Amino acid sequence: MRAVRWHGKKDIRVDTVPDPEIVNPRDAIIRVTSTAICGSDLHLYDGMIPSMQAGDILGHEFMGEVVALGKGVSNLKVSDRVVVPFTIACGQCFFCEKTLTSLCDNSNPADNQDLAEALMGHSPSGLFGYSHMLGGYAGGQAEYVRVPFADTGCFKVPAHLSDEQVLFLSDILPTGWMAAENADIEPGDTVAIWGAGPVGQFAIRSAFLLGAERVIAIDHRPGRLALAAEAKAETLNFELVDVMAALAETTGGRGPDRCIDAVGMEAHGLAIDNIIDRAKQATGLGTDRPHVLRQAIVACRKGGTISMPGVYGGMVDKLPMGAFVNKGLTLKTGQTHVHRYMKPLLARIEAGDIKPDVIISHRLKLSEAPGAYANFLNKQDEFTKVVLQP
Ligand code: NAD
Ligand code: ZN
Repeated sequence: MRAVRWHGKKDIRVDTVPDPEIVNPRDAIIRVTSTAICGSDLHLYDGMIPSMQAGDILGHEFMGEVVALGKGVSNLKVSDRVVVPFTIACGQCFFCEKTLTSLCDNSNPADNQDLAEALMGHSPSGLFGYSHMLGGYAGGQAEYVRVPFADTGCFKVPAHLSDEQVLFLSDILPTGWMAAENADIEPGDTVAIWGAGPVGQFAIRSAFLLGAERVIAIDHRPGRLALAAEAKAETLNFELVDVMAALAETTGGRGPDRCIDAVGMEAHGLAIDNIIDRAKQATGLGTDRPHVLRQAIVACRKGGTISMPGVYGGMVDKLPMGAFVNKGLTLKTGQTHVHRYMKPLLARIEAGDIKPDVIISHRLKLSEAPGAYANFLNKQDEFTKVVLQP
């Protein structure tokens, strides 16, 4: 089969490799019909994530058709059309039973967990196509992919919904939704969302569906702010305005009721290896950058909630803990428990409440992946979301 493989920093190739095979009874093999490039794939492309090996197959946002099943999978049949969560979960451990599937104890082998804990502070579940510290699983930017724990990790989707309407159930739609849900939005709330990337875009739309009266989107990329405005968000360009002053003014000095950090550490220009160095020195992020999490804590109204889908690793220092404590704030975060949200969000898509395909900017062939990675890295404003069709 053809597959998009990582060969080193900024070296992505479409190679011919052996087809995947059933390894365990709970596996399925999926023929991939659509797969997307995620902003976090760019961190692999850019060589920021350690423990990649030359020849690793990329991709954690994908869907397709079941073509083979292990003996232990009884709830799927060959030819079922399915979307697959980017987090791999056994469905049976302490955490999976609590629907905390991104914290599954069984999907990331122990030796990888040691590495993940050393580098990230803690190991979440295994992920598709995302390095050997997160399981070393082959990803879905390929013609075929092996899905472990397929009985809990393959969600059937109805024929009348196109790939483009359901593909993002694999990651960014549930991530944006959980970000909004974690913000504890009450009717009439004003929600400030830093980052108008794919995650921010779905957080904006989810916040309105969960009762927000106003959503304020903060970014500096004009195309992304325009997409936010299409969803009725008010927008702030942080290069043109003083974000903290603008938020205070527009909320009568009280601050937004809920603040969502959909930026994370990478957008601050910090590579993972940087973070590791800093973690060793026990310092972390300095105060020299516009630090979104810090802004969110200071901007948020008393008694409000901070939701943080944005990913951080290592140490973060100089957080205003005094403001955090004395304003009585709540902080909720985590890798997304994708499995939990598949069914309710599928219902939202069917009802027309959310139209996930609005974020797609490019539709390309698998063979065009190397160029797509390079362009996505350099022109993020134009390349909101790239979908590949193997
Ligand atoms: P992205 O890089 O496409 O978007 C981030 C946006 O933040 C960009 O548009 C950038 O211009 C903007 N930005 C940068 N600095 C900013 C600042 N100081 N203020 C306001 N905006 C700023 O990323 P994405 O794909 O939308 O993902 C966002 C975050 O969510 C990343 O950290 C990603 O790793 C994380 N993520 C988490 C999960 C999860 O399970 N929790 C899943 C997917 C992605
Ligand atoms: Zn589990």
